[in-house]
Amino acid sequence: MSLTRREFLQATLAGGGTALGSLIGLGVSLAPAIARAQTLRIANARVTPSVCPYCSVGCATLVHTIGGEIVNIEGDPRSPLSEGTLCPKGAAIYQLHKNPNRATRVLHRAPGAATWKEVDAEWALDRVAALFKKTRDESFVERFADGTVANHTTAIFSLGGAILDNEWNHLQQKLMRGLGVVAIENQARI
Ligand code: SF4
Repeated sequence: MSLTRREFLQATLAGGGTALGSLIGLGVSLAPAIARAQTLRIANARVTPSVCPYCSVGCATLVHTIGGEIVNIEGDPRSPLSEGTLCPKGAAIYQLHKNPNRATRVLHRAPGAATWKEVDAEWALDRVAALFKKTRDESFVERFADGTVANHTTAIFSLGGAILDNEWNHLQQKLMRGLGVVAIENQARI
């Protein structure tokens, strides 16, 4: 469908909304333009089949790389499970790899301090382990007053985030339950 400049402006104003909405209302298909833009972005890219890391649904993805750099990640239409679709979280996997806001250094704010300080990852792990052990030793309950076996601590809470993948969460559960932690939650329940 072709439009004159005047028809385009009239449709936009009459629609009272966006130019895009008006065009769609006039029956203009944007699919070819979108497909063309997508083709340009992944032209000459290498395609690697993969799986969304986030949840146990396991939607299939296609990872496009150029020169070893990820340039796009999208659903794999060949998947009998997801048929090329991804949920909003899965559709944002690209930003897991390419994100200037992603934290890449370990930061520590000492008790009472007002600012964060960059620390060595090994130091941070040792610090977490030492505090974990101290808290667990001080709070571990082997039996309740009536003699029932408890073997737990309620002084430690494990909270996972949306960025953690299946494998991490599986190991986190095993580690925490093995140590007697019973308060375990994840912010990204799907
Ligand atoms: S997080 Fe979304 S896209 Fe990823 S596997 Fe689960 S449902 Fe699929």
